[in-house]
Amino acid sequence: MKPVVVVHGGAGVIVHENAEGYRSGVKRAALRGYDILRQGGDAVTAVEEAVVVLEDDPHFNAGNGSVLNEEGDVEMDAIIMDGKDLSSGAVSAVRCIANPIKLARLVMEKTDHMLLTCEGASRFAKSQGIPEIPGETLISERSKERWKKNLNAGSKPNTTCQIGMGTVGAVAVDSQGNVACATSTGGLSNKMVGRVGDTACIGSGGYADNNIGAVSTTGHGESIMKVTLARLILHYMEQGMSLEEASDAGLNFMKTRVDGIGGVIAVNSAGEWTAKFSTKQMSWAAVKDENLHCGIYLGENEITPLPETV
Ligand code: ASP
Repeated sequence: MKPVVVVHGGAGVIVHENAEGYRSGVKRAALRGYDILRQGGDAVTAVEEAVVVLEDDPHFNAGNGSVLNEEGDVEMDAIIMDGKDLSSGAVSAVRCIANPIKLARLVMEKTDHMLLTCEGASRFAKSQGIPEIPGETLISERSKERWKKNLNAGSKPNTTCQIGMGTVGAVAVDSQGNVACATSTGGLSNKMVGRVGDTACIGSGGYADNNIGAVSTTGHGESIMKVTLARLILHYMEQGMSLEEASDAGLNFMKTRVDGIGGVIAVNSAGEWTAKFSTKQMSWAAVKDENLHCGIYLGENEITPLPETV
């Protein structure tokens, strides 16, 4: 089986001056995931490591660079899923850790549970030796400015135009034919304290099943949860739709039924892939057959051969 990895850096509107930062971030993440697959690594590790690259990059709304809640603090959600046995781990409303996706993987592998939240998640992180870092180190100037702007405007976060641009995700197929997904986010800007969105919820922020494929989503979390977007797309694929048709059908259903917009990346167990969105833009990158694909704008698929060393 030829390995494939696809990543996204969030759906929404990307202003021109930030486009290059998003583009290079998703490319680096996809190359990191592919490198792991190329060396015989498994799909779960590839999606985890790809997401770590994006969590560490302040351009994106996940880990360092997360948007702020109504009190100006970072609270993050993340999920990872292994398509081999449908095991999954998630964390929600976690603070003061650099890489929520690593904690989600530990929940999957070291506990009998699937989702740990808030204080319990922090205690578990400590017990696993994950260092606690000052919350401020996750806050970028851009998130602070945006938070202030929203406060002044008195805007409500629960509208489709307030998508927390920059949620990150990855899906992969490894050489054994296993699929996996991972998604990580700071959520919506100026959200209520304790608000948990789609990202931490299985079937909404992501889903992976070796029998079908894997999906990671981004967009207005409450809308994604109403239609369980990731599982809905896999359901359409099970019914015989192509990856593109299923992704478009899922996004169309979310638009017409609950007026929600967003984006998705998907792979199937045959190693096909797609990246689709109903927002103005979504940064994404994919690697397959030694080619790196990347795009931000509708219809764009910039293809370059893989660098010699990745
Ligand atoms: N889905 C994320 C959330 O609602 C936000 C995003 O994808 O931009 O928490």
